[in-house]
Amino acid sequence: PLILGLESSCDETGVGIVRGHELLANEVASSVEEHVRFGGVVPEVASRAHLEAMVPTLERACAAADVDLSELDGIAVTAGPGLMGALVVGLASAKALALALDKPLYGVNHLAGHVAVDLLDHGPLPQPCIALLVSGGHTSLLRVEDMARSITELGSTIDDAAGEAYDKVARVLGLPYPGGPVIDRAATGDPRAITFPRGLTAGKDQERHRFNFSFSGVKTAVARWVETRQRDGEDVPLADVAASFQEAVCDVLSAKAVDACLATDTPALLIGGGVAANRRLRALLEDRTAAHGIELRTPRPALCTDNGAMIAVLGSAVVSAGGRPSSLDIGADSSLPVETILL
Ligand code: ATP
Ligand code: MG
Ligand code: FE
Repeated sequence: PLILGLESSCDETGVGIVRGHELLANEVASSVEEHVRFGGVVPEVASRAHLEAMVPTLERACAAADVDLSELDGIAVTAGPGLMGALVVGLASAKALALALDKPLYGVNHLAGHVAVDLLDHGPLPQPCIALLVSGGHTSLLRVEDMARSITELGSTIDDAAGEAYDKVARVLGLPYPGGPVIDRAATGDPRAITFPRGLTAGKDQERHRFNFSFSGVKTAVARWVETRQRDGEDVPLADVAASFQEAVCDVLSAKAVDACLATDTPALLIGGGVAANRRLRALLEDRTAAHGIELRTPRPALCTDNGAMIAVLGSAVVSAGGRPSSLDIGADSSLPVETILL
């Protein structure tokens, strides 16, 4: 099917067009520049930016794909989770298009979109597979029985998301928002220079929280370490601190993801979400999955962060699986659980 996908859950206005799992267009307008001076996304600013960017981004996508809206088989849109005001702009736009063009609407899950996007790069997923979802607002281990119909959460973070930890540590280090890509580039030092805590990986914690994560401890440890240095009037070795922090986060993410594959006898691992673009995480996962004969699927970095193509391809998978169109009455759900793939 030829599917349009609209994404507006956070600070990226994304419009994607796919045919089956062939990518035809993926246009993204980001308001990240407008949030930099606040050190994080300001919901009202994001909503207004979506409102301004939606139509021009849609026009660019149609031109890039050489597709007329009348040719579409359906319109997919992020129904949640995300910022309420931001979601509403995308959902209202999608409803308006569906009504005006008389096309079916598919309100889909943003997180499932992060998981589905690899279809565009590497074709049908091995199913079942384990998915490590690592983004700015979420960090979880999922078992994907059927991309379009059945996803189960094995565990998730009990405090900060991995991307959130990157963003907060960047702030402590005086680096700009968003911190993930900046720390990725700054982490040129010795990853063993400082040993930061690896949450929920030892003893009782590991037993009770085998598939859960905790990143608030490492974030606080970095902040304390930096404060102590500064109080003593010493330099903060940025490259070493960034590398050591990154190692602590990526070590835990990759170890638990591989453990989930082994524990559930699932020999395929998929990663998705903004932090899945991280170079150290990808390198560690390549080594550790290879050691256990696990197939690793990594979407290209540009598809890991928020975009419309991930929503379009999830919509396409839903349509192909016979999913029923959503009612035009659906509302955005800012805390939509990952198990609810289609609203
Ligand atoms: P969610 O998907 O949970 O609703 P979100 O959509 O805001 O949250 P994404 O766009 O998927 O999140 O990812 C953004 C996050 O990814 C930010 O926290 C950012 O710092 C992080 N990130 C992006 N690139 C990298 C990288 N190379 N290394 C580490 N983190 C990264
Ligand atoms: Mg973003
Ligand atoms: Fe996201």
